[in-house]
Amino acid sequence: MKNPICNFPGCRQCATVAMPLARRGGRNAYMCDFHAHGMAGYNSDNNRRHGKVKNTGDTFGWEFETSYSDLTARSEFIAAKFLPTSDCTVDVEYKSPIFNGLNSISKTFTTFDKLITNGNLRVGDNCGTHTHYGNREYINRETMDYLRRFYHSLFVPLCEKMQETSNKTAAFWGRDFTYYADKIDRYSNALNHTNFINLQHNNTIEFRLCKYQNAEQMMRVARFIKAVGNCIIENFIKHFNDTEIDTRRYKNMTEYRKHKAQITANKIVKLYEKAIAEI
Ligand SMILES: [Zn+2]
Repeated sequence: MKNPICNFPGCRQCATVAMPLARRGGRNAYMCDFHAHGMAGYNSDNNRRHGKVKNTGDTFGWEFETSYSDLTARSEFIAAKFLPTSDCTVDVEYKSPIFNGLNSISKTFTTFDKLITNGNLRVGDNCGTHTHYGNREYINRETMDYLRRFYHSLFVPLCEKMQETSNKTAAFWGRDFTYYADKIDRYSNALNHTNFINLQHNNTIEFRLCKYQNAEQMMRVARFIKAVGNCIIENFIKHFNDTEIDTRRYKNMTEYRKHKAQITANKIVKLYEKAIAEI
């Protein structure tokens, strides 16, 4: 990228006149001081978008925690539009742009594998790779409230299944339950930041147990998350305001919705059984 005023080479992120600080794909990667070394505040959002809008409307975002990343790794994160942010528990947390669908992230993850193999990037013991699922049409402030009201019916069965199959849980997600990505039970608060699935955001469901091992493992997790999101939309959100309910079967709307949440939860457990059977 050229600086628009003086036409000198500029930072590939912001076009500030910059030095070639790393090599990327056989070329110099120009980065300004901030994009090479700086970090945005922990609460900064990355609202840039990546990839063509999909008909399904599914969106994904990652908070990619790293214990070490050199300038070569940093140049790849910047090229993929990730925003470096500071997090006191890890070295750098790279916040991804909002990805439309899963096609374009897969190539980025493959690049990360090379960086890890070459020692440019490390994902240490205390790092997680929190994954956010959204949907342009169906996940919003209003529907997130629907999910919060039936949080336990929707997600506790999955957590119980994950504990039953604990030998596969760590292999699938990349790590076991931790204090920062904890189990839930029928007393858990849906808004609690450290739950392995939390509903604290107004437009995404956050899956916190994920930890990057390699592209294949992370894509498997991402496809499962997509399937869970779609399952919730089809079986729960789309029925939340059904008008013609069978009053002989359900005393009231709450009972009907709870029933829909339980059906959804059973389907999520089935999706999980299918996902861990692949490993
Ligand atoms: Zn810059």
